[in-house]
Amino acid sequence: MPQNVCILGATGSIGENCLAVLNELASRFRVVSLAAHRNVGRLLESARAFGAAKICLADCSVAEKIDKQSLGDIELSYGQESLVELATDPEVDIVVNAMVGSVGLAPSVAALKAGKRLALANKESLVMAGAHLIRLAREKPGAEIIPVDSEHSALFQLIDLHEPRNALVKVIITASGGPFRGSDKARLEKVTFTESLNHPIWTMGPKITIDSASLANKGLEVIEAHFLFGLEYDNIEVLVHPQSIVHGMAIFHDGAVLAHMGIPDMRIPIQYALTYPERLQSSIRSPDLAAIGELTFESVDEKNFPCLALAYEAGRKGGLATAVFNAANEAAVELFSKGLIVFTQIPDIIEKTLAAVREGGEPSLEEIFQADSWARDFAVQLIA
Ligand code: NDP
Ligand code: MG
Repeated sequence: MPQNVCILGATGSIGENCLAVLNELASRFRVVSLAAHRNVGRLLESARAFGAAKICLADCSVAEKIDKQSLGDIELSYGQESLVELATDPEVDIVVNAMVGSVGLAPSVAALKAGKRLALANKESLVMAGAHLIRLAREKPGAEIIPVDSEHSALFQLIDLHEPRNALVKVIITASGGPFRGSDKARLEKVTFTESLNHPIWTMGPKITIDSASLANKGLEVIEAHFLFGLEYDNIEVLVHPQSIVHGMAIFHDGAVLAHMGIPDMRIPIQYALTYPERLQSSIRSPDLAAIGELTFESVDEKNFPCLALAYEAGRKGGLATAVFNAANEAAVELFSKGLIVFTQIPDIIEKTLAAVREGGEPSLEEIFQADSWARDFAVQLIA
């Protein structure tokens, strides 16, 4: 029996890669529903190509522009609530959350509550409400979170989650270093939005590409790893590895280090999140290490890329701080994209917003959503 898949964020970089994987695994999976923000043209094309019966646009304002005739048998719905409906559809087995930003949280919660496998690319949902998502995955029959983020997929494959944890000392998440590796503050103050979109290794959506340039992405990933694997922040390390062949490493108490390698291609972790615990054949080649020649590792330049240390600070503060880190970063990236701040103001805004947050606590989901919108307003007002 094929498994039924719903992709939220189907028109983005992860969404399109997911469809490419599903195209190769057509006998194992059936695409039943697809969602996007407002790119109806591409959404319809994919729905027709994969035979999806339902599509959803999160932005209701595009409704009037759609020619209903063009839909044929495809059912179209609108709005954030419809995303939740797709994620909880009894017909669906696997929800791929490939949306960008904090809007991903509500569908992640809904999918887990409905007992689905959540193939999670939307790291923002874990950063905002990791404790809630992990609890739901543990308690709801059938619910599970399988990471899509390449580093976390690597660690997920390296760490046996059922084994007693005392043998594992530490994990290492690698970072390419982004387009500005080696730059100093004077240079970073002048970089443009377009330059920041020029990632040396990965082709991704604009928001995560800016996050990769500022290292806020690595910060989000440290918090993501804390929740996914139940690790203390002291036991999660980041190393810059410009070749992006090693995605994650696990260090054990006998001195052994296991590393996960692969070419930087998101189809590998996406496929694993869909097929786990099986590892199916794919057309992707393994790295030609002799041709690559060198794998290098270096420490993060924390002075010039403060977003990573700020993420650790938010993680250690706990409570609402990680949601606030995420929201302040999302707001700052948007301001940067509009030319309203310079690149080096991204960490400044995060730092000032984070300073206004109390330590600790176990916030409810409602409090998390409130903190998210509070932090956005606070961040924007900082530059007003
Ligand atoms: P993209 O910007 O390429 O795609 C985002 C997708 O989300 C699009 O389908 C977009 O629809 C949809 N979307 C945007 N805003 C909303 C909204 N308000 N409501 C509903 N849908 C929305 O992003 P990526 O694919 O690069 O990233 C997606 C997620 O995966 C992020 O959380 C990112 O951090 C994570 N990730 C991405 C990696 C990558 O290689 N790209 C690697 C690891 C993690 P539309 O096209 O209509 O705007
Ligand atoms: Mg990653």
